[in-house]
Amino acid sequence: MWVCRGPAYLYNIIDGRFSELRRGRRRRSMDKRVEPRESREEERVEASGAYVIQEHQATRLHYDLRLELDGVLKSWAIPKTPPTESGIRRLAVQVEDHPLEYASFEGVIPEGQYGAGSVKIWDKGQYALTSRKENKWIVEIQGDRLRGVYCLVRFKGEKNWLFFRKKD
Ligand code: MN
Repeated sequence: MWVCRGPAYLYNIIDGRFSELRRGRRRRSMDKRVEPRESREEERVEASGAYVIQEHQATRLHYDLRLELDGVLKSWAIPKTPPTESGIRRLAVQVEDHPLEYASFEGVIPEGQYGAGSVKIWDKGQYALTSRKENKWIVEIQGDRLRGVYCLVRFKGEKNWLFFRKKD
């Protein structure tokens, strides 16, 4: 049978049967080696956990996106309604990590305290972080309002990200 490397490989070229060898290689890579590796990549999850968006009526109304990661809630403040469809990009300003318990908080933060105003849960569920690069995270969100694959892309400075739903 064909051998793809070493002297046999050279021999096949010299013999004028290179195209047949190439066909064989392509067939093998399609049915065995490549496909299982690709599906493993798709299934890889870096982290998963709680997802929540709190509607926060503070000095200005905004929405706080929080994702459970490394024992805390990574948090971003979104000044406009979070996107339920693709094609809408929202500024998401990263703010300090919050404790996990805060994910279920609803109520009024008194005047004079950080974040004074009322907090309501706008959406909640679970999420999976499928890719985490320094400036780009891909998360799969399963909430009631937000469902699907979302991107967080850092675009300016340390704290400014864009948050949007990927096209299906
Ligand atoms: Mn807030």
